Amino acid sequence: MRHYIKSIKPNLLSGQLLVSELVLQYLEQIEKSKDLNIYIEVFEEEIKAKAKSLDEKLAKGESIGALFGLVISIKDVICYEGHKVTAGSKILDNYTSPFSSTALQALLDQDALVIGRVNCDEFAMGSSNEHSVYGPTKNGFDSDFVPGGSSGASAVAVQMSTCAVSLGSDTGGSVRQPAAFCGVHGFKPSYGAISRYGLIAYASSFDQIGILANDKEDIEAVLNFLSVYDPKDASSVENFLQKPEEKKSAYKIAYFKEAITHEGLDPEIRSATLDQIEKWKNAGHQVDEIAFSMLENVIPAYYIMTTAESSSNLARYDGVKYGYRSPNSEDLQSMYINTRTEGFGPEVKKRIMLGSFVLSSGYYDAYFLKAQKLRGLLVQQMEVILNDYDFVAMPVSPCFPWKIGDADKDSLEVYLSDVFTVLANLCGLPAYAFPIKQSDNGFSISIQLMAKKSFDYHLFDLA
Ligand code: GLN
Repeated sequence: MRHYIKSIKPNLLSGQLLVSELVLQYLEQIEKSKDLNIYIEVFEEEIKAKAKSLDEKLAKGESIGALFGLVISIKDVICYEGHKVTAGSKILDNYTSPFSSTALQALLDQDALVIGRVNCDEFAMGSSNEHSVYGPTKNGFDSDFVPGGSSGASAVAVQMSTCAVSLGSDTGGSVRQPAAFCGVHGFKPSYGAISRYGLIAYASSFDQIGILANDKEDIEAVLNFLSVYDPKDASSVENFLQKPEEKKSAYKIAYFKEAITHEGLDPEIRSATLDQIEKWKNAGHQVDEIAFSMLENVIPAYYIMTTAESSSNLARYDGVKYGYRSPNSEDLQSMYINTRTEGFGPEVKKRIMLGSFVLSSGYYDAYFLKAQKLRGLLVQQMEVILNDYDFVAMPVSPCFPWKIGDADKDSLEVYLSDVFTVLANLCGLPAYAFPIKQSDNGFSISIQLMAKKSFDYHLFDLA
């Protein structure tokens, strides 16, 4: 019961499977995988009732939505009317959203159902799902290991068949990296393709809702409804995504020398990537190694700009308007300070401080402005490359999942492990990560493809 388009939907439509039965199967899977700490909240009674009404709708011959019976989970940064949403943080403790995100609503309108709200790194800041007030989520391949992050639990939710699709968010790889760590498919759209209205902000010029699923057919089916223009999001683009007119038999693919020779790249991941490149060549595609010397600049540019944006975005959590308010305060000033001190976790505080630092008047030119210039150069370079090539191929993560709580893994090393994913976000490009091989250590290896802005659907053709 893994693939929605290939097997679940046909069975639902032919009457071989009821939505109510399907939902029970998923609920059973949630129960079985409880120890992995995937779900913060399961909407059990609600989804059972919704399933029953969908079954009745079909039985009566009423018209049904294109995503009839698609069971999804949502990362705890996506607003769902009347449901709690906390971004994995104490500061949004008990916050209930008064509205649904545009993206989620689009799926609900097509008769999809939400089974629950899944864990994530606090405010989507992290690569391991360890920075959550609800504790770490564990990898379904081996529960001693991290599932990746920040949408770690979305990846495990799909990996453990607790839902067909999970909506995550990707600011610098948070959909693709956990998808790779858990052996599922992860897609990050072009910036502006999916509305951010109702997505709790981390770094607004990078954030996009992304899709985790078992195959590309399911991702495409969901993307068809998610990529609609939304006047409520100023960065939403009208008539944006281009569908390929015809499938080419031979593509031009580039890969970066600096990526494949990267000193941090695990040898097994390197050889799996090179094998995939060979396969593409043998299938008649043109694959070229090209130089991309700016790869070493992507991590500093990303962490300067995203911490700057997050320090501004997170200023709104002050104990007045949303969520948690410290009870131990004497006056307004101490209420702000205590609320933020008690409400935010250490990783979020670190990023707010870093962001405030790079935006401060004395350092703005040296850090923020420089990073902005770098971003402009990266955008230009990628435009040149993608005018010449259909796709750029890269590993997703240089390393395999690490052990939960690994004391040797310092935060700089974790930041550096985003080296292959942040480029797509810096440039607003679509990127798709999919598994290519089981690894010798019991995990999975993925590769990612990037394409020109708005060429999201083209990615699925080559994949
Ligand atoms: N690991 C990256 C970070 O910590 C990416 C996070 C994300 O995409 N939300 O910022």
